[in-house]
Amino acid sequence: MSDCIFCMISEGKIPAQILVENDNFIAFRDVNPQASTHILIIPRKHISSTQDLNLTNYMLFGEMALIANKVAELEGITDKGYRWVVNTGNHGGQTVDHLHMHLIGGRKLTWPPG
Ligand code: 5GP
Ligand code: ZN
Repeated sequence: MSDCIFCMISEGKIPAQILVENDNFIAFRDVNPQASTHILIIPRKHISSTQDLNLTNYMLFGEMALIANKVAELEGITDKGYRWVVNTGNHGGQTVDHLHMHLIGGRKLTWPPG
């Protein structure tokens, strides 16, 4: 999608601090971090949200989780723990309409979220 900011990051048209990338995924630091580790993991393929997961593409979601675990290891937060967040739609707080998982850690997080 030409006007999607995360597609542009995936295509290298917008700079980002990339930690891990392969043919299908890219993990980069959030521009507005909510903790010392705040990384976004996205599929390169444009999928708008969890609502667009289906029987053909749902495996991407699991793979995204495995990459999040790998990034957590790289960040050294595996032992203390971390949080995955996937926002969907307006009430879910989604602001970028390209499926992404937040990996947030490096401090004690509170619950419930706002
Ligand atoms: P959402 O609110 O959709 O779940 O999360 C979108 C996230 O993308 C936000 O945490 C926001 O800070 C981050 N973000 C928005 N634009 C950019 C950008 O251009 N670069 C990076 N690295 N992060 C972005
Ligand atoms: Zn996109």
